[in-house]
Amino acid sequence: MKRYNSLSEVHQDLANGTTTCRDLVHYYLDNIERKKHLNAYLEVYAAEALAKADEVDQKLAHGTAGRLAGMVLGLKDVLAYQGHSLQSSSKILTGFKSLFTATAVQRLLDEDAIIIGRQNCDEFAMGASNETSAFGPTLNEADPTRVPGGSSGGSAVAVQADLCLASIGSDTGGSVRQPAAFCGVIGLKPTYSRISRYGLIAYASSFDQIGPITRSVDDAALLLEIMAGADDYDSTASRREVPAYSQLLENESEQKYRIGYISDTLENEGLDSEIRETIQGAIQNLREDGHTVESVDFHYLDYIVPTYYILTTAEASSNLSRFDGVKYGYRSGEATDLLSMYKKSRAEGFGHEVQKRIMLGTFVLSADYYDAYYTKAQKVRRIIKEKTEELLEQFDFLIMPTSPTTAFPLGGNPTDPLAIYLADIFTVQASLAGVPAISVPVGADKQGLPIGMQILTKSFAETKLLAFSKSVTEKIIITT
Ligand code: GLN
Repeated sequence: MKRYNSLSEVHQDLANGTTTCRDLVHYYLDNIERKKHLNAYLEVYAAEALAKADEVDQKLAHGTAGRLAGMVLGLKDVLAYQGHSLQSSSKILTGFKSLFTATAVQRLLDEDAIIIGRQNCDEFAMGASNETSAFGPTLNEADPTRVPGGSSGGSAVAVQADLCLASIGSDTGGSVRQPAAFCGVIGLKPTYSRISRYGLIAYASSFDQIGPITRSVDDAALLLEIMAGADDYDSTASRREVPAYSQLLENESEQKYRIGYISDTLENEGLDSEIRETIQGAIQNLREDGHTVESVDFHYLDYIVPTYYILTTAEASSNLSRFDGVKYGYRSGEATDLLSMYKKSRAEGFGHEVQKRIMLGTFVLSADYYDAYYTKAQKVRRIIKEKTEELLEQFDFLIMPTSPTTAFPLGGNPTDPLAIYLADIFTVQASLAGVPAISVPVGADKQGLPIGMQILTKSFAETKLLAFSKSVTEKIIITT
């Protein structure tokens, strides 16, 4: 069977009888089996996916199928799916099965998506390499000695290696965009609040967003359109009407835009020189295509990583307090009394990175240090948000590399804990500001490792963002 790059290609073949949903599921199941060593899936729902495929094939024959008929999807292990295990790639949720289905997932199921399995990720979505997973790292198909990025590493590799047509991940500070960049696929973080977080395991609630990882912008648009919108179960979900993103992509594709790039991002000393050249090449191509591209100053780049880590660890220390050995999953067998049960269950159940962040978050929220860290970081977040919004008044889009490096070697970072946090330098700006951002593949380095370009725009301007991204994927591929 051929490799499909978008749902519309699948739909064509379903319509002309070249394939069926059952064939598609078999195809992906075979690929998953053949590429098991990549460790992208924690669990595969083979029988269930085949049964659902038969049901959708029937519906197609009767003309009653939903918009996602033929879409074989994987879910990052942070999204609740009733009756299925849910662990956030953590030992602490061993044995836990979800009691309900996340709103976003339910909306996909209602449109006849076929869910093929649960995907590996960093533990509690904390990481940028998938190496904090209790189930071992996922490997990058472009070079299996390298990381896939994270935290949605399994989800990005599943799309890269053709183990499903699209994945649903989550992005708190880059977890959809950075692995998409490392794996040469598309990753969208929508505006904060665009998609309900009901049924998404919380990391840092004022940042978390669900987002699609796909091989085409059209599929990202359709998945967003279906998942987005108000939800009675999440009062923070926006009530704004959801545009028909997937229908609007062509309308704007000939528009000429004002685009800014932050000079410090391209001059950043940590930036890989091949990535710099690729983004400069993209800027050149955008100019030749009739867009205006100007350099701008943004003096807050040095503050965004510390601000992000203070606020997200603070929120995480509170969100993760629910995992206490009583209510869910793992309980230590060594406990002698109530307090030791809490302590031992958490010490044995959480991995090192998660424990480190809980402690850091508890520290910045402690009475003596609250104002020095947490309150101050809230103020800095406000400034970063306002300054980013000011730039997005001046420009239709901001572009920058998604990551300062291409996929790095497995096990390459442990000596310097700060180095791995700096991997997030370009993705966390959009997360602090709450604005939408996408990573699109624009080339590869000399070793064949994919390079992603990130595009940011104003809150709720996803239609414009997706239309422009589509034209970028069609026109702006750089070869170095
Ligand atoms: N790498 C970032 C972190 O470790 C982003 C994680 C995420 O977006 N979930 O926090």
